[in-house]
Amino acid sequence: MVEIDKYAGFCFGVTKAITSAENELSKHGSACCLGKIVHNQKEENRLEKLGLHTIDRNEMLSNPPSRMLIRAHGEPPSTYAEAKRLGITVVDETCPVVLKLQELIAQKFHNDPDCQIVIFGKKGHAEVNGLVGQTDGNAIVVSSVEEAEQLNLNGKIALFSQTTADYLMYAQVAEVLKRKNGRVDVHETVCGSVKNRIPRLQEFCRMHDVIVFVTDDASSNGRMLYEVCRSTNPKSYFVTDVADLKAEWFAGCNDVGVSGANSTPSWLLEEVNRKCEELIKNNED
Ligand code: SF4
Repeated sequence: MVEIDKYAGFCFGVTKAITSAENELSKHGSACCLGKIVHNQKEENRLEKLGLHTIDRNEMLSNPPSRMLIRAHGEPPSTYAEAKRLGITVVDETCPVVLKLQELIAQKFHNDPDCQIVIFGKKGHAEVNGLVGQTDGNAIVVSSVEEAEQLNLNGKIALFSQTTADYLMYAQVAEVLKRKNGRVDVHETVCGSVKNRIPRLQEFCRMHDVIVFVTDDASSNGRMLYEVCRSTNPKSYFVTDVADLKAEWFAGCNDVGVSGANSTPSWLLEEVNRKCEELIKNNED
């Protein structure tokens, strides 16, 4: 038996951005997105075939498109200002959860200038860049408990996390900062669709002999969730598509769970599911 995890696949924010890209493509025949619309190369390839073109910031500045999608991760205010200056029509698909976090950080920054904003997240990640942009670059980004240990701040601190951060590590970072500096205001900003998935994924991993986790190397959410799989069920395997599957993983086993990240398309989960069934059947014959 092979079962697909019913909680795997696109979250609300990614679904919304991809639906908007598909609408743009069917209306205009092509579309342009600033940065990869989703951290999944297979889905990127599918959308590229339909006419989606991905540009980076340099291309936006040197060869501005007439319309441009902003993906779920969001962008700093400077991007909107540049787009306006260049006459680009922005189709803003920043996830509402990210938008709310950007607003919260901007409010804190403008209303409480004595407070140092600290963001727990991956340095250079598009969402984190968008969050730091709300503070004119003044926020400090920490990516690990070790980095939090090295921070020496005296005044008030407001701590926020990237929406897809590991919430257990975020709690550790908060503890470290509180120990070193009592004046820390911790904001619970890990997205519910990420946080809720961890206990559900652990349960799913315990229910199956073998877990096949479908994601992409570029997805931080995917890598974090795969680590959850591995620590719950040692027979967990990381794949990016059907070509990575190996028949030996399923030797003597007929109970497989297929799961994936928030950026894994459901059509890819289905493909992997079918291939697992085929490999199990071949092992039995
Ligand atoms: S993980 Fe949460 S915050 Fe990020 S895009 Fe999905 S719904 Fe939005």
